[in-house]
Amino acid sequence: MGSTGPSNLPALMRALEYSEARKFSIVKKPLPKIREQDVLIKVKASGVCGTDLHIHDGEFGAQFPLVPGHETVGEVAAFGQGVQGFEVGDRVVADNSELCGHCFYCRRGKELFCDNFIAHGVMVDGGFAEYATYPACRVFKFKNLSDVDATLLEPASCAAHGLDKIAPQMGSSVLLFGAGPTGLILAQLLRQNGGCHMVIAAPAGVKMDLAKSLDAADEYIELPREAQASAARMKELQADHPYGFDIVVEATGNAKILENAINFVTKGGKLVVYGVYGDEDLVSLSPNKIFKDEINVIGSFSQVYKFPAAIAYLDEKRVKVDGIVNKVFKLEEWQACLDALNNKSVIKAAIVFD
Ligand SMILES: [Zn+2]
Ligand SMILES: [Zn+2]
Repeated sequence: MGSTGPSNLPALMRALEYSEARKFSIVKKPLPKIREQDVLIKVKASGVCGTDLHIHDGEFGAQFPLVPGHETVGEVAAFGQGVQGFEVGDRVVADNSELCGHCFYCRRGKELFCDNFIAHGVMVDGGFAEYATYPACRVFKFKNLSDVDATLLEPASCAAHGLDKIAPQMGSSVLLFGAGPTGLILAQLLRQNGGCHMVIAAPAGVKMDLAKSLDAADEYIELPREAQASAARMKELQADHPYGFDIVVEATGNAKILENAINFVTKGGKLVVYGVYGDEDLVSLSPNKIFKDEINVIGSFSQVYKFPAAIAYLDEKRVKVDGIVNKVFKLEEWQACLDALNNKSVIKAAIVFD
């Protein structure tokens, strides 16, 4: 087995490695092995998201020792002998999933549920390192996005999958709870694919300001943080839209909001469960309402095969992402990055390399 690429690749690279949950350090380690079908990426930027906080705590199936990082962007540095269609220097983004192709779900075309799913940055090493390898079939070229903005292609792929699941009819009215990164991308995709009147409901603050600057909605409802005032504002919203919305997306991960969200769904409409919820969270919904109003409850998590769609929308600026990543850190600043994520002083962060 050989590989193609510059012979001046270094022997060692810097990486952020966890030896176990909560124990990390910057290490020097050999470059990852390039399998016959692999592309070696010189990493330029790696997105950071809530998943990485769970990985820090050893959750989400994290397998240590581990180099995290599942939103990897960079340049092709080398590739295995079986790889075609890439050149050294190509700007690329990696889909972090490897699918087995032969399990119960893969054989039925439901690869999202692959029993042997391998996630780079969760179970095997990912992009918080100077170099990372991915199978060539999971590596995609892009042209226009900055390296930092390109880290949003992974979350945008998940939003694109959400759009497929929702399958909006043209002229649909939409209510979206939450103004986080994937919600704002999904809002824009919905508006360009059947969503007609888009309402975003979220607390006032930097995320709502960002939603406005991205022109993600037709109407913005600022929900007070205090519970009673928020309930009153929700009542007003209901009164203003007595027939409800064709599509209601819960994108905050708050089970209480999900419980209330169903009251905004029009008869025959869709309730989309789109946040990340705790394992212990429960909601109570009226089965009679779901039955009589024929409400479709839709789950959307992760993605497969949606990178080309995400690149098509983001790289042509049909979906705008400027300002979503609002803070970048160097590998050595990982603790500061974790702190910023924990105290929510960033909307979305990325690790950058020279
Ligand atoms: Zn993520
Ligand atoms: Zn499988």
